[in-house]
Amino acid sequence: MTDTRKALVLFSGGQDSTTCLAWALDRFAEVETLAFDYGQRHRIELDCRNTVRAGIARQFPHWAGKLGADHLLDLSLLGQISDTALTSERAIELQANGLPNTFVPGRNLLFLTFAATLAYRRGATVLVGGMCETDFSGYPDCRDNTLKALQVALSLGLDSPMTLDTPLMFIDKAATWRLAESLGGEALVKLIVEDTHTCYLGERGELHDWGHGCGHCPACTLRAKGFAAYGAGSA
Ligand code: ZN
Repeated sequence: MTDTRKALVLFSGGQDSTTCLAWALDRFAEVETLAFDYGQRHRIELDCRNTVRAGIARQFPHWAGKLGADHLLDLSLLGQISDTALTSERAIELQANGLPNTFVPGRNLLFLTFAATLAYRRGATVLVGGMCETDFSGYPDCRDNTLKALQVALSLGLDSPMTLDTPLMFIDKAATWRLAESLGGEALVKLIVEDTHTCYLGERGELHDWGHGCGHCPACTLRAKGFAAYGAGSA
């Protein structure tokens, strides 16, 4: 049974958002994608988006017809209100409050509000995002209760239902790989390994069994660890 609603997926080109895109394509009648350009230090992830979208359209014909327009919103103003490792050359480190300094306060509230505005104009009533409470980083704007409150605020403010779906909210990285496999089999796992980008340092480098990346930054470490746990579980 296909859900007849149209969904807008926050799709950055990383592992999580690619899994969310597959999840949405498996479920909804029509799916569009959105990314934000806010002067990330590395544009590789944004460049990966087109490769991933093209790969999905080519390898999954039953999804290709549902995959609609792609949107890229310029949020370069975030550079004016943040000073983090994502937008400057500072090293990534944990701050005193336990959050990495890649933290942009309330970033996801801004992203989802812009996404909801775009979704409204595109006739979509579902937003899909890869926010996750089990993530090491613990961003408070990624937490389930934050997003539930925002869903209510957006639906009231738009005077139209706007559902926020977060399929990865309570699962870890190994389970995210398993979800990808259940949605698109080995072919989707391979596409995510080879074509998505996660590395904080923007390195593609050699292809490890878990994908491209420096292998040392927190994002690579998490991804590699998750892939190893996934491999151990499915062996
Ligand atoms: Zn890395």
